[in-house]
Amino acid sequence: MSASRHNRLAAARRELVDQTVAESVHELGGHLPPPAVEIVSDGKSEGRFNLEHNRVEIRTVRFLGDPSVSDGRIRAAVAHEMGHWSDPTAAARARQIGLAWMTARVFMIVCVAGMVVALVIGGHDSKWPAVPAAAAIAVFVAAFGFMARLNWACEYFADAAATRVVGVAAVIEMVETFPPGRFSHTHPRPEDRIRRLRKLTGTPRDDDS
Ligand SMILES: [Zn+2]
Repeated sequence: MSASRHNRLAAARRELVDQTVAESVHELGGHLPPPAVEIVSDGKSEGRFNLEHNRVEIRTVRFLGDPSVSDGRIRAAVAHEMGHWSDPTAAARARQIGLAWMTARVFMIVCVAGMVVALVIGGHDSKWPAVPAAAAIAVFVAAFGFMARLNWACEYFADAAATRVVGVAAVIEMVETFPPGRFSHTHPRPEDRIRRLRKLTGTPRDDDS
């Protein structure tokens, strides 16, 4: 598909994005003023809410300007980002995550220094470097778990908020497009998000009916 066709489609869908943002502001309320909307040419994710600048960013490449992506999925993605916008705990959680990660990094640097010292003093045969190495791994795992718990709560909140704007079916359809089984410290597994959505809204699974 040519770049100009891609851009034309993205421009035409800009109205859809603005309309979904306006609907979300109306439906979700929120503690922040209505966000700015920015269409970005690239990025890792389809959409992103930038809390620092109170801005919803929607990607054009392989998303807004892609004819294989339905309008419904675009609306669900925008509504999800607006769910983050409406989250009253987002700022506090971001601060906690930043602090936890900074603390973990400092501790891990200390552990690496401890390993070097243990190697220098005890030589390669010493078992002592294993102690700071194990401590560094334990801290990394704990920090990952802590950040994941906070971030995942934000994702579940945004999903639930999005259902109030576009309906649960559209949000589930969006999450179903993500690779199953994949999780990170920022996002839970898609199947866990879908399970929560179904539980939240009492929507039966397809195979239940
Ligand atoms: Zn999100």
